[in-house]
Amino acid sequence: MCAQEFFQAQRSQLVGRLALRSLENFESILDYLLSWEVLTWEDYESVSLPGQPLSTLARRLLDIIWNKGGQSCELLFAAVRKAEEAEEQTEPPRLWSQNVASPAQDLQRHRPVIVRKICGHVEGILDLLLERGFITKYECDEIRLPIFTSSQRARRLLDFAKIKENGVAQFLLQHVHQLPVLPAPFPDAAACRRYRAKLKATLSAQSRFLSTYDGSENLCLEDIYTENVLELRKGGGGGGAPGQRGCDTVGLPDIFSDSGCDNEHADTVLLVGEAGSGKSTLLQQLHRLWATGRLFQRFLFVFPFSCRQLQAVDKPVSVKTLLFEQCCWPDEGQQEVFQCLLDHPERVLITFDGFDEFKFRFTDGETHCSPTEPTSVQNLLFNLLRGNLMKSARKVLTSRPHAVTPFLRKYVRKELGLRGFSQEGIELFMRRHHSEPGLAERIVRLLKATSALHGLCHVPVFSWIVSRCHKELLQRGCGSPKTTTDMYLLILRHFVMHNSPGAAAWGPGAAAWGPGVPCLRPWLPTILRLGRLALWGLGTCSYAFSAKQLWARGVEEEDLSLGFLVRSKSFSQESAPSLEFLHITLQCFFAAFYLLLGADVRASALRHLFHRREQPGRSLARRFPVSCLRAPEPAEAEEAAASVSGLLQKAEPHNVQITAAFLAGLLSREHRGLVAPGQGAPGPLPRKQSLVRRSLALALRRHFRAIPPAVPGEAKSMHAMPEFVWLIRSLYEMQDERLAREAVSKLGVGHLKVTYCNIGPAECAALAFVLKNLQRPVALQLDYNAVGDAGLEQLLPCLPVCQALYLRDNNISDLGICRLVDQALQCEQFQKLALFNNKLTDDCAHSLATLLKYKQNFLALSDGKPRLSVYGKLRPRAIKWIAQDQASSKWQRQNVNPVPHFKSSSLSSVLLLLFRFEESLKLIKQIIICLPLLFVGLDLIHLLT
Ligand code: ADP
Repeated sequence: MCAQEFFQAQRSQLVGRLALRSLENFESILDYLLSWEVLTWEDYESVSLPGQPLSTLARRLLDIIWNKGGQSCELLFAAVRKAEEAEEQTEPPRLWSQNVASPAQDLQRHRPVIVRKICGHVEGILDLLLERGFITKYECDEIRLPIFTSSQRARRLLDFAKIKENGVAQFLLQHVHQLPVLPAPFPDAAACRRYRAKLKATLSAQSRFLSTYDGSENLCLEDIYTENVLELRKGGGGGGAPGQRGCDTVGLPDIFSDSGCDNEHADTVLLVGEAGSGKSTLLQQLHRLWATGRLFQRFLFVFPFSCRQLQAVDKPVSVKTLLFEQCCWPDEGQQEVFQCLLDHPERVLITFDGFDEFKFRFTDGETHCSPTEPTSVQNLLFNLLRGNLMKSARKVLTSRPHAVTPFLRKYVRKELGLRGFSQEGIELFMRRHHSEPGLAERIVRLLKATSALHGLCHVPVFSWIVSRCHKELLQRGCGSPKTTTDMYLLILRHFVMHNSPGAAAWGPGAAAWGPGVPCLRPWLPTILRLGRLALWGLGTCSYAFSAKQLWARGVEEEDLSLGFLVRSKSFSQESAPSLEFLHITLQCFFAAFYLLLGADVRASALRHLFHRREQPGRSLARRFPVSCLRAPEPAEAEEAAASVSGLLQKAEPHNVQITAAFLAGLLSREHRGLVAPGQGAPGPLPRKQSLVRRSLALALRRHFRAIPPAVPGEAKSMHAMPEFVWLIRSLYEMQDERLAREAVSKLGVGHLKVTYCNIGPAECAALAFVLKNLQRPVALQLDYNAVGDAGLEQLLPCLPVCQALYLRDNNISDLGICRLVDQALQCEQFQKLALFNNKLTDDCAHSLATLLKYKQNFLALSDGKPRLSVYGKLRPRAIKWIAQDQASSKWQRQNVNPVPHFKSSSLSSVLLLLFRFEESLKLIKQIIICLPLLFVGLDLIHLLT
């Protein structure tokens, strides 16, 4: 193979090597090609246009080189090698003998060496050139623009010398020879090394303990960190077209790998998960692994930020002040350290936790490129994410799903979703938290016996609650937590118990989470003070509170001792210490308490919980820098803050939803005794309860009214929006069967699509609770969610009203399917089941075969695995076989007899046990007769896709 052919064959790898490393690497390849005269000046200019994606420039360079022939191709390989070696080289560059006759040529011939030699001296050289009149002030400023790294400035200086014919090249050459040899700039410079050590030590100390603990013990992250299911979302989260979307599970070490990139030009890795799914903990683990030198060592510097803290920065900030003042201050050589960061952005990682708590919505309106010029904190953050600042530095952004807009996704390199703990994860978590012999096993046994609780535990924050409250749960006298409100009441009681002097006297009976509830009463004043603070915080998007704010909301010393407010983590040297709720969901929980019992909360204020209109003022505030908006007068702000309705309208909608669901839960019959000392007594409570009931039913009806009419000839179908799931969850929290029945009694849809809605086991329980009341059978489409086996178990109560169940891509295993089939056999209306992309193996074939054998009205079973052989023998009649994989489509195309290819001996024995040979033969004949019909039936595939 000649050099050119080899070059062409290697093209895609070459694009990767040129484009996926740093811009510095690419530019240093160009230096070599220029110096060897492979590239003309014109070629060079066409591949060094600023602002173009690196991959575009790389492809253009490869085209130019290929056109120049075999020798140029060989030289490109050599340049790539040289540039990669130079990156590792720490020795100072060697000099050469001068050719004074042609200084401009000499500059070009030795360009790679000269760039390395002068890159630490550009400032001094520019001053000298200015002094001698070789350069104007304007030209100087163009070269020293802060967006360029030191080596880019050095190259621009050489480019300038090349085109000026005023003796500057001659001067430069002579000067270069006299320059002192600086130590290799990075990472060996002493100031950088010390800064890195300081950053590592600080981060190691900060990440050692889990950020949320109840004060009674220190949870060492290392001891309790449990792997969370992390999946790669292709095609921009939920936005991918059906069929294209797929999710691969990845490990934490893979989050920066190049595989699965949606946008290779972007630098930001987006980590999405619901509240309590473990985003902050995962980030903390990442910081810890870096700080202790175990992983992610490609990064020399890691800067952690929380959006919660960032939004408290009310003065303009630059990249420099952000990294140094808000994170870690270099004790020496600030300028040198900062220049190192700018010169090697690819070795820098910046993490931003909790984007959903940032009160400004992402925009790409204002561009800011200068790392030293200050701007508003939101503008700085957005420009960092967009890559206008610190291009090539990796950023990790965590957020709840609702705060991720398509605008933001444009700048996301890859998106990962946190799915919570797997079954093994829950068990491991309990073992890690409880080393006493047998205790973890007892807790796991309890979980397995109470499926609603088990379903909740896939969300890490609930596993944490169960782990903390195991005593109360194991000693329970009646019932067990079912709803999210039950869980939060459990943790509240746990904290109260640990703070009550007579706690020991409560005894096992009192520890039951239900009947022991009156013990909360002495704590109601504290709960209400915390609730007022929580509500005020939600309404003003404040999640960390200063001492002054606590005092202004009337929070007292003893309220802090309860343990729900903990110190915020902050690296900032400047910010005063602040307190925050253990978790945002707990802030919502306390706010719900206040809405329920606060003396100044009128029933009418609760209307805003279930029916909100976007406030014009609020949306403006999210879109524009603070400085653009008129600041409210203090008295005005105080007044607005004082109004509960005002707070609810200004709060982040998603937080209002969580609060509303808690309020519904607190108003449930079971918990009413907790808050109403004299039950039945007139007062605001019954009014609040009936208003919440009415509002919930109304909100659902409004949702149903918005469903478009059915397409002629098809069943009326409804695509649920996330709001629908929230309303259903709120109904579930209320545990009011009558209300649930009334709410869906008039719902006349035949097909309910709840795809891409983050449905986990907890949501499945709520869906089943409500949908089981439907009057007419429904096809329930739950594709692309996180139902899992635990969720499937929760769905069983609504199976009798399901005509079809679509469960594509839901992490379901054989165990879950077998359980479903057991139940489905008794459900008369159940006729279709779609199961592509789950964790099914041949072990569930027997169960599915039984379903087909005994359910005579079953119409369709779609499954990505070619177990046609097994099922086919059982149901020769009107069943549509739909399989996605190649094997089966080949079978369909070629009209091949689908007689079994037994995949395992266990399968064949299953079949042998199940059917007599002659019966099988008869059925095979019938299948062959049915084949043409089957092709006709393929047009119905869309029903299942
Ligand atoms: P999020 O940031 O998504 O709201 P957090 O990271 O704050 O969730 O998790 C809430 C709680 O759940 C943590 O305080 C911790 O107790 C528990 N948790 C979350 N992830 C893990 C994990 N991977 N290992 C152990 N515990 C975890």
